[in-house]
Amino acid sequence: MHAVASISQSALAHNLSTTRRHSPKTKIVSMVKANAYGHKLDLINPLIENSDLLAVSELSEAKKLRGKTNKPILLLSGVYSNNDLQQAIKLDCQIVVHHKSQISIVNNSSEQVNVWIKIDTGMHRLGLSASEYNECLTLLELNSLINIECVMSHFACADEIDNTMNKSQLNKFNELTSAKYKRSMANSAAILSNTKSHFDYIRPGIMLYGISPFAKEFSYLKAAMKLSAPIMSIKTINSGESVGYGATWTADKKTTIAVIGIGYGDGYPRHAKNGTPVVVNNTICPLIGRVSMDLICVDISNINANIGDIATLWGDDLLSVETVADWSNTIGYELVTGLSSRVKFIDVA
Ligand SMILES: *Cc1c(COP(=O)(O)O)cnc(C)c1O
Repeated sequence: MHAVASISQSALAHNLSTTRRHSPKTKIVSMVKANAYGHKLDLINPLIENSDLLAVSELSEAKKLRGKTNKPILLLSGVYSNNDLQQAIKLDCQIVVHHKSQISIVNNSSEQVNVWIKIDTGMHRLGLSASEYNECLTLLELNSLINIECVMSHFACADEIDNTMNKSQLNKFNELTSAKYKRSMANSAAILSNTKSHFDYIRPGIMLYGISPFAKEFSYLKAAMKLSAPIMSIKTINSGESVGYGATWTADKKTTIAVIGIGYGDGYPRHAKNGTPVVVNNTICPLIGRVSMDLICVDISNINANIGDIATLWGDDLLSVETVADWSNTIGYELVTGLSSRVKFIDVA
């Protein structure tokens, strides 16, 4: 009896081909950082096989991914020492330069390197300023061992379609760059909302896993992860009796409760509120009481269910991870990347 995350191979393939249809002329850099947004690098072959490039955040991830594919890998963090550089070259990574201290590290390379220059167009997280970018170009263009593969930037507010930052960042990017080098700007939200941001490489992440980058869901994406867990116990309590730690929920009538074998120790959000939907036998049932480490309780007064029946926590046609995230004051990204090692992962067609 344990929680299971099933990763749908057909959903991954569908989401990638949907992405291609949205932007048929651009190359796709699939974001597989954080163990493929928690879906596990071992279980996302349709993405690995059909993307043009794969991007990871750090060297340890590049190493793991290189064990599975010969596809080009983009290293988003870039390199911080000559040792990093040697490892990145050995792994045949394309290397992001996002800080001026990284320019001389890649520039001292004694081997050919493919570099992506990241500029800051207003998010003020990673990226070179306009003057640093020009300095970087001057230095790297002189070095015949360096191929500037692409110039990239990242949106701060792409999930809010009408946010004025989107236009100002795109304008800044267009001012600073030209078609001399390939360009890349769009994450999932920008891919879906603004074709002017697509340029030469798009960088889809969350949409590949079937999760909407916006507050609203997208019916043409298919959830790749389904999280489920079994009913461990069923009991009936009387009006006035409470459930769970802190006794935060009290029955106002006779209530049948299913105790399900999943909790925050598995990555189910502890902040899920009373009423958060859980699917039991094809019916939405409300979460009651606090989420504990190994267990949650659900009101199943209105349905028939037995010990051993499987409940779905998210990734069902009736219940998206976006909905559960909403009930838990977080985002789908955090829920799917947060499952613990106790959850058993399986791939399904
Ligand atoms: C993670 C990431 C993306 C993908 O973002 P989504 O919102 O998941 O599509 C794109 N670009 C960069 C630089 C990223 O780090």
